[in-house]
Amino acid sequence: MPILQSFGPASKPAIGPGEDIEAGVMRALPWTQAAGRDTAPLYERVKAVIPALEWRFFAPYVQAINALKRDRNAVILAHNYQTPEIYHCVADVVGDSLQLAREAAKTSAAVIVQCGVHFMAETSKILNPEKTVLIPDRRAGCSLAQSITGEDVRLLRERFPGVPVVSYVNTSADVKAESDMCCTSSNAVAVVESLCADTVIFLPDEYLAKYVASKTRAKLIAWKGHCEVHERFTGEELRQLRESDPSIEIIAHPECPPDVLAQADFTGSTASMINWVRDRKPKRVVMVTECSMADNVQAELPEVEFVRPCNLCPHMKRITLPKILDSLIDLKEEVVVDPMIAARARRAVERMVHLKS
Ligand code: SF4
Repeated sequence: MPILQSFGPASKPAIGPGEDIEAGVMRALPWTQAAGRDTAPLYERVKAVIPALEWRFFAPYVQAINALKRDRNAVILAHNYQTPEIYHCVADVVGDSLQLAREAAKTSAAVIVQCGVHFMAETSKILNPEKTVLIPDRRAGCSLAQSITGEDVRLLRERFPGVPVVSYVNTSADVKAESDMCCTSSNAVAVVESLCADTVIFLPDEYLAKYVASKTRAKLIAWKGHCEVHERFTGEELRQLRESDPSIEIIAHPECPPDVLAQADFTGSTASMINWVRDRKPKRVVMVTECSMADNVQAELPEVEFVRPCNLCPHMKRITLPKILDSLIDLKEEVVVDPMIAARARRAVERMVHLKS
């Protein structure tokens, strides 16, 4: 089914929830022999993508963070777009938004450190109201989350009374609170179909809505939000790459524009893109998504050649080892969600988390 109509502005400039707040002074840790020795097994995991010279900077932070998170009874959740020294060396759980939300719902840790962007930390807080949820840099925002407000959703509901609302997890708690159910790119089609409705309001990613509309019989009403990272890819650059090497494999995230997806051999969430590469071990592959994900898989599969283009997410890149250490030492930046909004948002997130795949 094509999408019925798209509403709203094109993506607003991506600013984080606390853009005006300074990140503060970070503690500097010098290289030591002990840090090198303690972290040597972890360096083995990432040596294909991190030069030894660079590791001398990372090792003291990796050592300190891993010691401190045990003392704090903290768990570190890291999105697939985090850099390899975070993803492979300090994270306890890695994954896409759905995997992180599921783990956040199950954790027994007292403190959750979210290495990702603000809406992910909010989701963890919504699912764990009694726990301390920290984000190492609260300016880590998202162009999709910034594109829509709870008020926008209320206006859409007035315009389309009785039509259920599905919100991508890349939204604020306020938007989730106005929604019937959340989804991620892993389960968006299943979530829409689980509602058994002829028409669904699907927010805020217009390109994901188009992708989902191509996979379901439900009619979708979309919002004109875009991911500033994925919307920069073009079908033409991929067409040229394939022309230069017809054996190249192209896999793309559904937040990409339709002309990009038309060039892809496989389209899926970050988790399913990783599994696709693990299973098929292609000789040369383009992962049409955020750059760090290719680095993370490259560390694990050095025999696969990852061909650019890829684009960096400036929000994901705000999270660094020194900021994670500061976050654990000072228990900052704590994520707070209004309990009334959290209670309503929790219903929409839990409906998604408990949906049988
Ligand atoms: S990659 Fe796109 S969707 Fe993901 S956090 Fe960055 S701006 Fe948001």
